[in-house]
Amino acid sequence: MIAKVIVDVPTNQTNRPFDYLVPEGFEKGIDIGMRVIVPFGPRKILGYVVGLQEATDVEKVKPLEEVLDVTPVLTEELLGLGKWLASRTLSFYISCLQVMLPQVLKAKYKKEIWRLEEHLPEELERLFEGKDMLTNEEWEVSSYGYYHLKKWVDDGYLDVRYEVKSKETKRKITVIEPSLDMQKLEEALVDISPQAKKQRALLDFFIEYPDPIPKKDLLKRLETTDASLKPLVNQGYLRSYTQEILRDPYEGHTFEETSPPPLTDYQQEAKNQIVASVHEEEPEVFLLHGVTGSGKTEVYMQSIQEVLDRGEEAIMLVPEISLTPQMVERFKGRFGSKVAVLHSALSAGEKFDEWRKIQRQDVKVVVGARSAIFAPFRNLGLIIIDEEHETSYKQEDRTRYHARDVAIKRAENHGCPVVLGSATPSLESFARAQKGNYHLLQLPERMNKQAMPSVELIDMREELHEGNRSMFSHALKEKLEERLRRGEQSVLFLNRRGYSTFVMCRDCGHVVECPHCDISMTYHRKQEQLKCHYCSYEQPMPSECPECESKTIRYFGTGTQKVEEHLQQLIPEARIIRMDVDTTRRKGAHEKLLTKFGNHEADILLGTQMIAKGLDFGNVTLVGVLAADSLLNLPDFRASEKTFQLLTQVSGRAGRHEKEGEVVVQTYTPEHYSIQLASTYDFEQFYVEEMKYRKMFHYPPFYYLTLLTISHPNTFYAQEVTRKISQYLSQNLSETSEVLGPTPSPLERINNRYRYQTMVKYKAEPHQHKYVQRIMNYYENEMKDQNGLQIIVDFQPYQLM
Ligand code: ADP
Ligand code: ZN
Ligand code: ZN
Repeated sequence: MIAKVIVDVPTNQTNRPFDYLVPEGFEKGIDIGMRVIVPFGPRKILGYVVGLQEATDVEKVKPLEEVLDVTPVLTEELLGLGKWLASRTLSFYISCLQVMLPQVLKAKYKKEIWRLEEHLPEELERLFEGKDMLTNEEWEVSSYGYYHLKKWVDDGYLDVRYEVKSKETKRKITVIEPSLDMQKLEEALVDISPQAKKQRALLDFFIEYPDPIPKKDLLKRLETTDASLKPLVNQGYLRSYTQEILRDPYEGHTFEETSPPPLTDYQQEAKNQIVASVHEEEPEVFLLHGVTGSGKTEVYMQSIQEVLDRGEEAIMLVPEISLTPQMVERFKGRFGSKVAVLHSALSAGEKFDEWRKIQRQDVKVVVGARSAIFAPFRNLGLIIIDEEHETSYKQEDRTRYHARDVAIKRAENHGCPVVLGSATPSLESFARAQKGNYHLLQLPERMNKQAMPSVELIDMREELHEGNRSMFSHALKEKLEERLRRGEQSVLFLNRRGYSTFVMCRDCGHVVECPHCDISMTYHRKQEQLKCHYCSYEQPMPSECPECESKTIRYFGTGTQKVEEHLQQLIPEARIIRMDVDTTRRKGAHEKLLTKFGNHEADILLGTQMIAKGLDFGNVTLVGVLAADSLLNLPDFRASEKTFQLLTQVSGRAGRHEKEGEVVVQTYTPEHYSIQLASTYDFEQFYVEEMKYRKMFHYPPFYYLTLLTISHPNTFYAQEVTRKISQYLSQNLSETSEVLGPTPSPLERINNRYRYQTMVKYKAEPHQHKYVQRIMNYYENEMKDQNGLQIIVDFQPYQLM
């Protein structure tokens, strides 16, 4: 017997199956989709069996070394999906198979054989001698081979597990915390010699962040070693102790059982259509458009119930950030132990366990982030993608897939519908719904019949003219103070990404844009130049506004910490919690701050993106957006769309319960349609406006995009290769396609590599993959070295940096 094996060597030459002889002992058990160890050159490496046949033309076939699995880890459907993914994203087949599996299955973990039954067949009992577990080594010296093992596993006597499990249950970590209060620590600081810089840094750290922190994280963060830490512990300033890490994040948690409420007419109509499609086994795609709180999740859950009743399975994708305990609670409450949850906060062992539940068909529903789309179900009846507009559904490294595309492909494989849900659908999806490619379902009302909170736009140019140079308008300040008086809470939102890149006139709000692309120019501080990263047009940084000649034109930038300081000066009595990457770096910090805010231990929550989603506090009656323009002016053609989505989402944080909410949006461009229309929650009008712009400038959904990013330590070389690639593409692609490049990437240099890009805009380009593949082949040798040339291809990019 011959096994066709895809080996774990991601290169062009090895991007095909290799033939191996299956030793007799494995013949009866080996199956497609199992992992094997094969000799490859001088090494022994991991591979996946993608085919089994009787003979081969290959002359000297080597026998495979070992079969790792007794049950396939990849179904035939997933093997096919991997192939499809590889051709679609121009990735190696092996990378596409790996992306579908939990980490544990890809790395080297020790194999163990576990007893599942109290009483085993006699020969097994002799082998186990009363023990619960045998190591793989112990098994191998026994007289039983792979075939027996597989049989006993199939009969339910044994289970093959990987070491992670037992190891992680007992995993302990060392935690450091201050043993004195802040004041004492500050006093201690005086006693430490100025030369002991690291010791001082450690104390400083705890003065600022007094919470316990894992020792490993602490040392890494302060770039120091045990040697600096020890004296502080010995002198009693800090305390060190060990802590056990628990495996199951939901262990000991009881979920209150819920029963499905009767649906509203709108919900019922949506559900009926979805369920009809489930029964007809049609791979139809629905777009469920409904504001937050309109009952989408309830529609998902009741549709899933129908799927389960048919004996089928369902996948529900949510963005990582929305995988909140509340969400998990809702699903566990409704479907109990039939649910597996997959998200990045789980340890490798936990993820593997959840995945195993799916593989063993112990669960019927998976709720998870992007990669849960590869859940190894065999009878999918429904796939749901909540918040479908979220860009986190696009994987941004290696295999650059979009979960939506994979969902639709899997739905075709299984003959089941896909539901895309959102309050602010992506333009691509809404356009498809308008054309009838997707089936549009709408939930126009909120469940509590409450209106969305009213939004007031504040023109920051006027504030400036009235002499207010602070980041806070008079109106916002007053409203914040009013909340303080009433004992209510406020949330302030500041977008930080892309700060200090665009240039704006503080007098008239004019933003310098590229004359060819209608995209804001990026400020490059070093050369004092403005650059368009789409077409490489350049101009010097202007000293006055080209619109109104004011001298107050400058690049834009403020960090959250600064804002916090200003705010504290402005309203000294306010208790403020700041949430950004700096204050939430530690595990659990995020939840802690939120709990604190939820307990009303603070009046104002000030934060970045991360507070935009999922927050649900009844006492929050004011939401302020400090600079709505900061997203709007990112060098990205989706900037308006993202602004609209974000403003809508942020506004939804106010007035969630009985108390009415209010939203204040500060902006220098209140006339911009995405800000205007977000303030009236008018998605459809926004869609109309934005589509005009997309059409005019040849962006999706009217055109498709391909982005090639070329990088090299030598800037001239990178540019030259990009130029050649651009030339090759424009010569070979069709006349109607546009090739834009070479252009420096917005992030021009990362890790001392210079980055250039070329972008293709096209309507139809059936042979594009072939040409890009040729480019990759041509440069293959240059790309072998880690420090050499790198070419990244992104079909349908979301990240343009
Ligand atoms: P969305 O997912 O659109 O934000 P949800 O499904 O979370 O909306 O619904 C909002 C709130 O209304 C939730 O608290 C939910 O439990 C409740 N709800 C949804 N549908 C119904 C219904 N048919 N009857 C009663 N309450 C409902
Ligand atoms: Zn341009
Ligand atoms: Zn101006």
